[in-house]
Amino acid sequence: MPADEVILRLENVSKYFRVGGGLLKAVENVSFSVRRGEVFGLVGESGCGKTTLGRTVIRLYEPSRGKVFYRDQDVHALSGPDLKRFNRSMQMIFQDPYASLNPRMTVGDIIAEPLDIHGLAAGAERRRRVEELLRTVGLSAEHALRFPHEFSGGQRQRIGIARALAVDPEFIVADEPISALDVSIQAQVVNLLRRLQEERGLTYMFIAHDLSMVKYLSHRVAVMYLGQVVEMAPSVELYREPLHPYTRALMSAIPIPDPGIERTRRRIMLPGEVPSPLKPPPGCRFHNRCPEVRPICKETEPELKEAAPGHVVACHLY
Ligand code: SF4
Repeated sequence: MPADEVILRLENVSKYFRVGGGLLKAVENVSFSVRRGEVFGLVGESGCGKTTLGRTVIRLYEPSRGKVFYRDQDVHALSGPDLKRFNRSMQMIFQDPYASLNPRMTVGDIIAEPLDIHGLAAGAERRRRVEELLRTVGLSAEHALRFPHEFSGGQRQRIGIARALAVDPEFIVADEPISALDVSIQAQVVNLLRRLQEERGLTYMFIAHDLSMVKYLSHRVAVMYLGQVVEMAPSVELYREPLHPYTRALMSAIPIPDPGIERTRRRIMLPGEVPSPLKPPPGCRFHNRCPEVRPICKETEPELKEAAPGHVVACHLY
């Protein structure tokens, strides 16, 4: 169970990029907090800003506005020993296990690289730590001498997870860690992440476009659309009673493992494409695709409001 202690806090975070002559508003005014030991799911279609947000949290990007606090320290103002501590505390698992491992390094050196950077182990102790990490993620000690191309996608993602664990972090940003893998392998990697989270008391920000795996793993879920959080709730509550029309559409796409119920599942197909973040629609950004659109939606942007304890939604229906 997550502790009461808030470990990560985002306050009105926006991230814009200059593209040609325009301003791409990838993330707009996002606020939430994550507690220690919590798995916080961040979900939305590609281009909704979830990866940009993850990268801003881990300092790969500076926010254009707003602040990110980790243990009450402004993440983007850190320097010296505080920055070093932060870089150890927070690690990232990347989406593409093919591109994120250096093909010219042995698996042992890839996993040990964070140990080397932080000066945490050398010689026999370094070797022992690498072997232990390989075993932790379900690989074996002799894999340390091989190269990434000798492994399957699922095994490579296990190597990526071992590397992230090397410095004993407390917070992991997992950026779509299973979306590049075969469906048959996805559940294995999710099970591994879940076991590690429970055994080590890790905190995750788990980014995904598919609600089904997020449901299985997360304590709380935030749904993003076109750079903004449109709904956020405890996972059980969100799946029991999704409020935002966009969340309902995402939810309707999840297959149900009971063939009887699955036969009657009605998928909500959204019309049109996600609009460009270079020119988001006025009012509610979802209005040109929403099955429940009203006149007010085209003019006035809905604010995030609490619809039930801990359940917030940005929609004029509530
Ligand atoms: Fe649909 Fe209006 Fe709600 Fe936006 S505010 S999700 S357009 S009903």
